Amino acid sequence: MTTTATKVPTTTPKATLRQLAVAAAGCSPNPLWVERARCASMPKDLFYGFVSELTLSVCRSCPVRVECLTEAISRPHEQGVWGGLTESERAEVAVMIENLR
Ligand code: SF4
Repeated sequence: MTTTATKVPTTTPKATLRQLAVAAAGCSPNPLWVERARCASMPKDLFYGFVSELTLSVCRSCPVRVECLTEAISRPHEQGVWGGLTESERAEVAVMIENLR
């Protein structure tokens, strides 16, 4: 059996990506942010592989979304959803942050 990677659609509007870039550029995450994560007690595989609208909606209402995104951008090889963004969206936000500096 052959396994194929699932392409995750980009669902975040550009204006939201820009807002998140500005927020992440000014964010210095408290190391304890993970304790406030909405996903803390959820199965981790929900945030890897196929990404559902349910997963993204959890992130969008997470109180530490910006902290999570900031952490992920500092580790560009991370896979899955961080901060409610896919890998390609995070790459886009990383470029936006660089352009803000
Ligand atoms: S934004 Fe990050 S910490 Fe919050 S639910 Fe999503 S993956 Fe978890």
